[in-house]
Amino acid sequence: MNNSQKDQQMKEEIIKKKQEKDIFIIAHYYQRGEIQDVADFVGDSYAMALAARDSQSKNILVAGVDFMAETAAILCPDKTILSPEPAATCPMANSITAEHIRQYRELHPDTLVVTYVNTPAEVKAVSDVCVTSSNAEKIIRALPSDKNIYFVPDQNLARNIARGLDREIEAFDSSCPIHAVVSRDEIIKLKALHPEALVLVHPECDPEVVHLADYAGSTAGILKKVVETDAKAFIIGTESGIFHAIRQQCPDKQLILASEALLCPNMKSITLHKILYSIDNMETVITVPQDIACQAVVALEKMIELAS
Ligand code: SF4
Repeated sequence: MNNSQKDQQMKEEIIKKKQEKDIFIIAHYYQRGEIQDVADFVGDSYAMALAARDSQSKNILVAGVDFMAETAAILCPDKTILSPEPAATCPMANSITAEHIRQYRELHPDTLVVTYVNTPAEVKAVSDVCVTSSNAEKIIRALPSDKNIYFVPDQNLARNIARGLDREIEAFDSSCPIHAVVSRDEIIKLKALHPEALVLVHPECDPEVVHLADYAGSTAGILKKVVETDAKAFIIGTESGIFHAIRQQCPDKQLILASEALLCPNMKSITLHKILYSIDNMETVITVPQDIACQAVVALEKMIELAS
């Protein structure tokens, strides 16, 4: 049996067993294509959070990095949240601590702490509101204009939003190591090679890159843009996993990756084999200590309220 036959067999086994065990699989667009194929729902981190909350299943398997499974655990205290690879994490999320926010708050008691969903539960628990790349601009627009904002941890996202809103935003000094590799020079070079292509990038990219783009938005936003525009070619500045979802809807469109380095090793550490193991053994169950979950859910629900 070759590898593709083995994958097909594993996919069929996963689909059969998840139904038997009432497991709803949620995957991020950055997951491997074969994992998106076995998922009940594929989306960006905001859509994943809503899908977890709204699922009727008793068990949810989150194919994504650790903060995504934690978010599901916080929003769904009555469901069992499974991670097929609990070591899959996000270096940017881990760059900030709750202690840093506490100290900042002591010095700046009137500033609102706006926290990207790419953070550990402990950080969400000491934040005023969470955001994702698909709703950050809308949420910050809804916050009182006389309040200062401290945005953590992605400085690129903060700077891109600040430019869009023409509002000053103080930002923590961190960024996604994957999106940060996309350079202005690379985009200029690719635009010269493909003058007909639209440039679509994620707002975790450097503001100089975003400035050159025809569109900047979340992974769901980028997918929608490709589907809805008549253009036939696109230079894509986000993690390469999005190509799978785009190709399913637009098989004839030409996709050019803005950098060969747009591949998140943590996202790609999840495999079909690990998903099957997770379903067979109902492992690893992700839980968040109740005191932290009770506080973190406030910032997450505030996000859902302001984004709706
Ligand atoms: S792509 Fe960037 S932000 Fe997303 S999980 Fe990987 S390192 Fe974190």
